[in-house]
Amino acid sequence: MTSGEPSAENLNVLTSTQVVVKEALSRLGYGKEMYDLLKEPLRFLTVRIPVHMDDGSVNVFTGYRAQHNDAIGPTKGGIRFHPDVTEDEVKALSIWMSIKCGIANLPYGGGKGGVICDPREMSFKEQEQIARGYVRAISQIVGPTKDIPAPDVMTNSQVMAWMMDEYSRIREFDSPGFITGKPIVLGGSQGRDTSTARGVAICIREAAKVQNIDLKGSRVVVQGFGNAGSYLAKFMHDSGAKVIGISDAYGALHDENGLDIDSLLERRDSFGTVTKLFKNTISNQELLELNCDILVPAAIENQITQQNADRIQAKIVVEAANGPTTPDATKILTDKGVLLVPDVLGNAGGVIVSYFEWVQNNQGFYWTEKEVMERLEEVMMHSFETVYHTSQARTIDMRLAAYMVGLRRMAEAIELRGWV
Ligand code: NAD
Repeated sequence: MTSGEPSAENLNVLTSTQVVVKEALSRLGYGKEMYDLLKEPLRFLTVRIPVHMDDGSVNVFTGYRAQHNDAIGPTKGGIRFHPDVTEDEVKALSIWMSIKCGIANLPYGGGKGGVICDPREMSFKEQEQIARGYVRAISQIVGPTKDIPAPDVMTNSQVMAWMMDEYSRIREFDSPGFITGKPIVLGGSQGRDTSTARGVAICIREAAKVQNIDLKGSRVVVQGFGNAGSYLAKFMHDSGAKVIGISDAYGALHDENGLDIDSLLERRDSFGTVTKLFKNTISNQELLELNCDILVPAAIENQITQQNADRIQAKIVVEAANGPTTPDATKILTDKGVLLVPDVLGNAGGVIVSYFEWVQNNQGFYWTEKEVMERLEEVMMHSFETVYHTSQARTIDMRLAAYMVGLRRMAEAIELRGWV
């Protein structure tokens, strides 16, 4: 796989994504026109959201919505509330959503949204105004058959509830299918809150099989203790693995005998913060380099780079976060024999169950948690097998294989529609 200059590592998530998209399309036999269409979102909207703060001042926040491509169907993807949101990040995230939906064979293209803000420093009332203001600003281009948002970093089912309510008021009819990740009582799906972590756990199980690692007693490290990371730590703990390290934005906890995950889950706050309660912490960098069998980055981008990839000791890395490993680091890990399950496959469980939620909303017929889990298992297993076999058959890393599998169907649909 081609990558940026080794001496000047490409940490821009959009440009580094474009490198892999180009390579994948070229290996699929597509030319420059297809790449030109897919290297950026089809549509990108910037919005301004005025919010009356509790102290009486007015703050104007900036938000984005990217729709990567709708040749397959409506676009789909989460909304992030974070101070570091950028245009390029939202664009890259929308491309990754297209690839995820392609791998899992969902009838969607990718979308993504973000608002530059820090909900940790805002009241509930202020967050609600951002959520409602964002929906008013993007309402023209979204909808159950156009573009369907969902939760992402620092947005949760409550934020989805406000957004669904605002959209339903604007349209003057009840629209549960406008957004996924809702509370169950408002049309959410059973199992949606744990779906990303369940998907990651299925990938870990399958990766362990091909790497001949017994999960029972294996040593697991999870970076990030929010929606994705905390449930994953719990599932690994419950399956007999030893979770020896976890972290959040403020530091990391390490215990060679295994951490008490149930107690940490009880004590974490709604933003996935728990380490502040402890004195004996290590840094996130030290956490990533711990001696372990399985490493799961479940926090933010650019955590495993060419600076530290050589020091990663895990035999399996499953990306629960989006974009935690740079292309250069992907190459270093793959060359070392580490099985790297990329984000577009590893964390696809979230969008798969979001799709199930949308289907249930459209039908007005709701499934049991058991039905949701069985269907998730089937789709994840098939996705893992397809990507793994592509990587083996073509002797390429799992990320490039995933991009090839994920983009194939979209490129085909674009051709059939006569766009390229
Ligand atoms: P979250 O906001 O619930 O939790 C994020 C966690 O990461 C928190 O524990 C936070 O403290 C930690 N964190 C933040 N900045 C950090 C830093 N600089 N260093 C170390 N830790 C840091 O978010 P989430 O929903 O769990 O999402 C985490 C990742 O998983 C993101 O990349 C997201 O895009 C991806 N993802 C989430 C879902 C989902 O359904 N939640 C689905 C697909 C992908």
